[in-house]
Amino acid sequence: MNVLFPALRDGSPAPALRFGDRALDYRQLASVVGPLAERIGSLAPGGGPARIAVWATPTLETSVGVIAALLAGVAAVPVNPKIGERELTHIVTDSAPALVVAEPGTVLPGPLAALPRLDVEITEPAAEPAPHPLPLEPGDESPALIVYTSGTTGPPKGVVLPRRALAHTLDALADTWQWTADDVLVHGLPLFHVHGLILGILGPLRRGGSVHHLGRFSTEGVARELSAEGTMLFGVPTMYHRLALEAGENPALAKALGRARLLVSGSAALPLTDHERLTAATGRRVIERYGMTETLMNTSVRADGPDATGTVGVPLPGVYVRLVDDAGQAIETSDGETVGEIQVRGPNLFSEYLNRPDATAAAFDGGWFRTGDMAVRDASGNYRIVGRKATDLIKSGGYKIGAGEIENALLAHPGVAEAAVTGEPDEDLGERIVAWIVPATSPDPDSLPSAQELADHVAQQLAPHKRPRVVHFLEALPRNDMGKILKRDLRAATPTAGT
Ligand code: ATP
Ligand code: MG
Repeated sequence: MNVLFPALRDGSPAPALRFGDRALDYRQLASVVGPLAERIGSLAPGGGPARIAVWATPTLETSVGVIAALLAGVAAVPVNPKIGERELTHIVTDSAPALVVAEPGTVLPGPLAALPRLDVEITEPAAEPAPHPLPLEPGDESPALIVYTSGTTGPPKGVVLPRRALAHTLDALADTWQWTADDVLVHGLPLFHVHGLILGILGPLRRGGSVHHLGRFSTEGVARELSAEGTMLFGVPTMYHRLALEAGENPALAKALGRARLLVSGSAALPLTDHERLTAATGRRVIERYGMTETLMNTSVRADGPDATGTVGVPLPGVYVRLVDDAGQAIETSDGETVGEIQVRGPNLFSEYLNRPDATAAAFDGGWFRTGDMAVRDASGNYRIVGRKATDLIKSGGYKIGAGEIENALLAHPGVAEAAVTGEPDEDLGERIVAWIVPATSPDPDSLPSAQELADHVAQQLAPHKRPRVVHFLEALPRNDMGKILKRDLRAATPTAGT
């Protein structure tokens, strides 16, 4: 396909985007993005280094702004509207946008208010829109988007994503998840990361399908849309956790989820307890996929493949994935036990970190991108993520222990609502295992689990050397806007009780 969105070029009357009661079909979308792309192009010349910021509220305006920028050939920088002043200043200084695109009436904060501004006005679309080819040559290296990483492990980095990577990932997912023009995605994610924007908005449009965005995620919204035309749901683990708990008590929600063609989770690991609860309530399995801002999507369980619950599946078409040991050697065994760093090569990769040649160079091992994520590979070729090298791999008593399996074991205890596991220095063990627990709400405080009980539970479920040595009880885990646990902030979190 040498255009990004064939249905947009063809002026199809099929539905494209819906946010609440506002909707555009492809013809209307073409008539709105066309003039906007021209205005963007006249203010920020495309094809060169020009960039525009998009104030990325979960709205039709944001989606239209990003598609218009793609059409104009100008790289769009989606900006989290809930971002703090310091991070915003960093992003604006780093990406130096020529202008900012926003919804009419939005009050923009300082660093963005100083830029020229273009409001996205969605008025009555023209009856006969001009066709918009949005050409996409294979191997097009021009930057399509600059997306900042989630900032889970450090300050966000600007990731330059070329059109080539965008087209590759959307086609690889279309194949893996068998997208068609009949698919309707139910969407409740923010629009300033890869997941919500690239997969969630641009993904369905690639095959002529459509998107129903909830504005804000709610289990009622999911139930309503999946009972209507919705065929797919993309979410992060915190969303599936809420759906899993509620589906057990709400037959209408369970039925709606059971009707979906595809339930996909990503951005962080979905705990096994949530997989099990969801399947028990709905009869359906949630598919996990693994990706990063830098690599877009790497692996997924296939919609037409065998059950691989608890793994992130197999490499997507065209993507090469390998595991590398501490000595930098590729691990050849697929025994489901040998842990190595995931490295990735393929047309899905980013071009560079913006203004960070040092970080870009350090991120590569030959042509392979070092993800910093650790995994094992099983005999079927499925990858199971153990955790991040920097925060989730605990070296204790001569063992390398992944935080994820201990978190899963803790979550299987009825007294535990949320769990995070870290390592801290220990004179004898090298590192000792520390568990951070949000107890399940219980009317009876005496039924809350003790640290000893939780440690014994892990020792029984896994192995004695995997028992947490320290247990902190918290009211909530620190998480970012994608629901990812911020392990670097755990130390600063105030325990509600002792250890
Ligand atoms: P930063 O790079 O700024 O620290 P981040 O790595 O969280 O933040 P993203 O690029 O949004 O920023 O997230 C990619 C990371 O998310 C991956 O490296 C991986 O650790 C995690 N991840 C994504 N999908 C999954 C999944 N299905 N299971 C487990 N982890 C996942
Ligand atoms: Mg990262």
